[in-house]
Amino acid sequence: MEHQRGCLICGDKLIYLQNSERLTCFYCNRAYDSNGKCVNGHYVCDRCHSSPANEIIQQYCITTKSELPLEIALTLMRNPRIKMHGPEHHFLVPAVLLAAYFNMMRDSEEKERTIKKARERADNILGGFCGFYGNCGAAVGTGIFVSLITKATPLSKEEWRLSNLITSKSLATIANNGGPRCCKRNSYLAIIEAGKFLKEHFGTKIEVESQPRCEFSSLNKECTRNNCPFFVGLVIVTK
Ligand SMILES: [Zn+2]
Ligand SMILES: [Zn+2]
Repeated sequence: MEHQRGCLICGDKLIYLQNSERLTCFYCNRAYDSNGKCVNGHYVCDRCHSSPANEIIQQYCITTKSELPLEIALTLMRNPRIKMHGPEHHFLVPAVLLAAYFNMMRDSEEKERTIKKARERADNILGGFCGFYGNCGAAVGTGIFVSLITKATPLSKEEWRLSNLITSKSLATIANNGGPRCCKRNSYLAIIEAGKFLKEHFGTKIEVESQPRCEFSSLNKECTRNNCPFFVGLVIVTK
């Protein structure tokens, strides 16, 4: 059981209470009576605990109030359901960007609507798309993000231009960092590009740290280590 190895959020020890407490789930924000939490007070409800990756991403992005997309991404990546590599990153990228963007805009309705839409669209991006189709799903995720915030369609003009442009920008950055694929590196790069793009083309500023410290290198057999801009050689805390 993943739970027995520690807290899904911070990796610290779990404690069990004699009397149940009313606790709020970290991912879905619903309150439940529970006998267990971590030493830092984190609680994950049974439903979220057994949810698949995309469900956790959706729930957390809808409930979080954070305006920092990389922080949201790192929090989600620490959950063992989000694998080192996998197509869930195709949804994670637009979801964390939509969450931060609409939190900044104070529009929770549009946030929830577009996150659900992004999930439907990201489901169509196959695993291994980067190597087999030459089009990394994290980059496509930034295209989904801009398409949703501009309400682009295949018939749009400026919205169409912007949606395709962001995909090309993040894809170029991802390509220039070289292979082999890393879903963490490429997600960070895509999110950073999207942050720059928003500032340049929309005049909006969602805060994107330029240098996230990758916590997952020890899980990645193909990590390029000192050739990766995010490598710090940290040991992951949650797994
Ligand atoms: Zn914890
Ligand atoms: Zn929950």
